[in-house]
Amino acid sequence: MKDSKKAKARVEELRQLIRHHIYLYYVLARPEISDAEYDRLFNELKLLEKQHPQYIVPDSATLLVSGGVAVVAEGFAPVEHSSPMLSLDNAATEEDVREFEARMHRILPGTTFDYVCEPKIDGLGVALVYEKGKFVRGATRGDGRVGEDVTHNLRTIRNLPSVLRGPLAQYELLEVRGEVFMWKAAFQKLNRYLEEAGESPFANPRNAAAGSLRQKDSGITAKRPLDITLYQLGTATPPASFATHWEILEAFRESGLPVSREVRLCGDLDAAIAYHREMEARRNEIGYETDGVVLKVNNLDQRMTLSSTTHHPRWAIAFKFKSQEAQTRVRRILINVGRTGALTPSAEVDPVEIAGATISRTTLHNADEIARLDVREGDLVLIERAGDVIPHVVHVVPETDHKSRPRFRMPPRCPVCRGHAYRPEGEVVWRCSNAACPAQLKERLLHYGSRRVMDIEHLGEAVVYQLVDRDMVKDFADLYHLEVESLASLERLAKKSATNLYEAIQGSKRRGLSRLLFALGIRYVGENVASLLAQHYGSMDKLVGATEEDIAGIYGIGPRIAATAAEFFAQKENQRVIERLQAVGVRMTEVTAPGVKKILAGKTFVLTGALPAMSRDEAKATITRLGGRVTSSVSKKTNYVVVGTDPGSKYDDARRLGIPILDEAAFKKLIAGG
Ligand SMILES: [Zn+2]
Repeated sequence: MKDSKKAKARVEELRQLIRHHIYLYYVLARPEISDAEYDRLFNELKLLEKQHPQYIVPDSATLLVSGGVAVVAEGFAPVEHSSPMLSLDNAATEEDVREFEARMHRILPGTTFDYVCEPKIDGLGVALVYEKGKFVRGATRGDGRVGEDVTHNLRTIRNLPSVLRGPLAQYELLEVRGEVFMWKAAFQKLNRYLEEAGESPFANPRNAAAGSLRQKDSGITAKRPLDITLYQLGTATPPASFATHWEILEAFRESGLPVSREVRLCGDLDAAIAYHREMEARRNEIGYETDGVVLKVNNLDQRMTLSSTTHHPRWAIAFKFKSQEAQTRVRRILINVGRTGALTPSAEVDPVEIAGATISRTTLHNADEIARLDVREGDLVLIERAGDVIPHVVHVVPETDHKSRPRFRMPPRCPVCRGHAYRPEGEVVWRCSNAACPAQLKERLLHYGSRRVMDIEHLGEAVVYQLVDRDMVKDFADLYHLEVESLASLERLAKKSATNLYEAIQGSKRRGLSRLLFALGIRYVGENVASLLAQHYGSMDKLVGATEEDIAGIYGIGPRIAATAAEFFAQKENQRVIERLQAVGVRMTEVTAPGVKKILAGKTFVLTGALPAMSRDEAKATITRLGGRVTSSVSKKTNYVVVGTDPGSKYDDARRLGIPILDEAAFKKLIAGG
C-alpha cells in the first residue's frame, strides 16, 4: 500500500517533468536535459505505469503518438494530417531487430521481407501537400495528428521544389513526408554567427532546425541553412499504384523531391543489420545528426497486411546506434574570458572516448549550471557528446567521496587580468569588470577583424595575441596606427605578410557605419540591429547624439537594446575610441540611396498572391527602401495587405481582421510619394 502511494507520487512527478521538458524541447526548442536523460524519465514512467496500471491517465505522455503533447504554438494555424504521422518503434540491439521481424512473421508466416534502409535524421518531421504538382501547404508533425502550418517558412528551403516535374506532377493531390534538418557544418557556422552577434547559440542542429522552421518571420528562416529530405508517401489522389517503397523513392527523385543519399535496398534482415553496422561506423562522417537507421518493409502489400498499432507501424523500426555517453573524472574546472568579459566555466576531464572521438574538455555553461549539477573537481561524471556539439556533463555519478570535495565557487577575480568578477542583475553569466582586460581585448579584436564584421584578412589569433601582449594595441583605433615595420617585428610574420596585413587593416576603413557598429561589440547589437541603427541615423554623429527614447522608437529595436546602446555611447572611453577611429579616416556613415523619403517608416506589410507587374522581391525591396517592413503573416499589427492574383489564406485573415487591402494599383499610389 505504502509502495503504491510512493509510486503514484512518482508517476505524477514524472508526468510533470516530462511535460515540462517536452515543452522546452518542442515549443521553445531549448531543452535543458539531454535526449538520453529524457529517455530515462520516459522509460521510468513507462515502467511504473506497467507495474501500476491503475495510474495510467488518458493524456499520459506515454500514450501519445509522438511522445509529445499537442504543441501548436500561437501564431501558426493548425493543420490536420491526412493520416496520423506515427512515430517508429525502437530497437537497441540486434536481438530487438530480430524480434521485430519475428513479430511480422507471426502475421505473415513464411514470407521473406526486403528492407529499405536509411539513417534516421535528427530533424523536424513535416508533411507537404502538392496540388497538381504545385507546393501549396506544409505543416510540422506536431503531435502526429495536428501540426502547424509553416508553409511560408518551408518555401525558403532551397532544395524543396515548389513545382514537381516527372511522374508525381500529375496527381490532383499528393502528400509527402520527410524531415527538415540542418547539416552539422551549416549548424556550426550558424552558431558562430549567432555568438558573434551576441545572441545565444542553439544546443544542437535539431533545435536550430526546429527554431528556424518555427520562426514567425520567414525572412529569418530564409537566412537559416535548412535542408529537407523526403522518405514517405502520404495520401495521393487519385490513389497511387506503386508496388514497393523503393519505386516511390525513385519517383521522388525523378520528380525533384530530395531523397537521402544513404538510402539502400537490403535483400534481407542480415543485410539490413550489416547496413546499420556500416552507418554506425560512418556516423560522424555522414554530415548530419543521426542516432540510428530506419528499416522499412519494401513491399507495400505486405505493409498493408501488417498495418499499424495505435502507436507505430508494424512494418518499420528505428534501429538505434550505441549511446554517445561515457563516464569520466573531472580534473579541473577552468574559466575562459570572452569578448564581453563573460567568464565561462569548462571542465578538463580524464580523456575518454565517445563515439570515436577523444574528449578531454566539456562545457559547463555557467555558474548556475555548475550549481544545478553540483559538479566538483575530482567528481565522476556522465558526459554526453551528441554529434559534433561540444560535449557536456549530464550529471554527477553518485559517490561517497563527492561530499568531501569542495563545492565549486566562481572565482572573485578574472583569471587573466585579476579584475573584479561580478554578476549583472538578472543574468546568469559572470563577467570581468576590467574594461582593459587583455583577454577581452583579444576577443574583441578578433571579432572586429572577422569576415562578417570589418573583414580584416590575416588578423588571426596569433597576430592579435602578440599585439595585445606586447602592448602594441590597446583599442580598435590603435590598429590603424600600426606600420609595416612594427607588424614585421611580430613572430612568424614575414615582411610580405606584414604588408598584406597592413593593407587589409587600412582597407577596412571603408566598410561603413553598419559594420562598424557591429564591430564595436556593443552588447545585443548584432548584425541586424547594427544595420537598423545605421539605416535610421545614417551617420555616427547622429547616433551618438540620440537619446535612449529616440533609439527605442526605431521599429525592430527593443528597450533593452536601446538602453545598452545609449549607455555605450554615453561612456567617455567609447566616445574617445570613436573619435580616434574617425581621426584615422574610418568611415562613419552609411551609403543610402539619396533623396529617398522614408514614407513607409513604421508600417508593416504582408504580401500575398502574384502582382501583375511587380515581382514579390521588387515589392519587398521597395517597401524596405521606403522604411517599411514586410512580414509573413497577418496580425492585428499589420498595416496593409497587398493582394495579387491567387491570394492565399492571408487575404482571408486580412478581411477577418479588417486590415486595409491594396491591389497593385493602390499599392503603387501609396508608394508614389517616396
Ligand atoms: Zn579580465
